Amino acid sequence: MFSAHLTRRDLLLSAAAATFFVSSGEYGLAQGLKDCEDCGGIGFLPMQNRKPYFHIEGQPAPKAADAVPHRYCPKCQPDKKDADLVEEQVARLKTAQDAHKTWEKEFGSPLVRIETRHITVHTQVPLPECKEVGQGFENYAAHVQNLTGTMELTRSRPENYEMMSLLGQPAYNKFREVMEKLFTPEQRGEQWSSGRSVMAFDHPLIPVFYENQPTLRQRPPAHGVAFIGGRKQLSLQTDGKTPLWLAEGYAEYSEYVALKKNLWHTVYNANPAPVPGDWVSQLRQLAVAKQLRPWSEQMTRDLRSWEAADYLQTFGMVTFLIQAEPKKFLSFTRKLREGASDTQALEEAYSKKLTQLEIDGNKWIASRR
Ligand SMILES: [Zn+2]
Repeated sequence: MFSAHLTRRDLLLSAAAATFFVSSGEYGLAQGLKDCEDCGGIGFLPMQNRKPYFHIEGQPAPKAADAVPHRYCPKCQPDKKDADLVEEQVARLKTAQDAHKTWEKEFGSPLVRIETRHITVHTQVPLPECKEVGQGFENYAAHVQNLTGTMELTRSRPENYEMMSLLGQPAYNKFREVMEKLFTPEQRGEQWSSGRSVMAFDHPLIPVFYENQPTLRQRPPAHGVAFIGGRKQLSLQTDGKTPLWLAEGYAEYSEYVALKKNLWHTVYNANPAPVPGDWVSQLRQLAVAKQLRPWSEQMTRDLRSWEAADYLQTFGMVTFLIQAEPKKFLSFTRKLREGASDTQALEEAYSKKLTQLEIDGNKWIASRR
């Protein structure tokens, strides 16, 4: 879908890009902190008494204290003061509109800016949909932070992770022209031309997708943001070493916890996808009927032959892995980051053979309500 070799940092080298991407504040994987079990080496933890936060352009200005994304990990950063985190937000909010205004100027028509603690979305959608976009991604972040007790699955920040959510193919084409003006073919990557004929392109610089009138009736834009944005969090956590079955399953899971429905999937071929909406019950039916594939087969399945059941099953595998034992899921993803194969990382993290994990997972899925 996109070149794994081009990182955002590579792209920052472009002078034009620097207009937009002045900061790269993603949690580093090596900040000089010791391996800390509490925070996974990030140095920060989710806030206590966490309150929802998102802001839509045009609403009263946000309070800096509300936008703080985390607190210092008391174990590995005991000398730091959380009050400084508010000051960071004061400083960030002063220039937070700059990149948005530049995009708007280049794009040539108005865009609405939405920010949460972990993403900025530039969009053409009306206000009710903007609220759903903000609330949806906020729901995702709150869920994974509460579940895992860490910031590991919410690594991006609004100043370094932007997404473009557009209405209609002409707007999409126009945005592609903007990108072609600003970036060299090398910066756009080898896959750039393949983005011409699709509705969503997960470019490492800025993911972009559009909906049109028929698709909008089926899936509000919030679903695309949660799906692509959730998948990005796992990619940051594994340092880009997410196998495709896991990337797809985690994106589906992100959408589900954000918005309680599954309306998105990556299109690998012309096969029908699962019926949109309630994937939990569709999945349970497959599990009860013992129609799920062996995990070893699912994990290596060629994406070009994916069928409806493959989307459901990867959703189910991820849901089981993260919800049944959240800390082991983190361990699994850290092992992927260190370069372990998916099977090895699973078996080590969960202290079980893959075949046993599959038995436990299928039982868990079949009993889920
Ligand atoms: Zn720590």
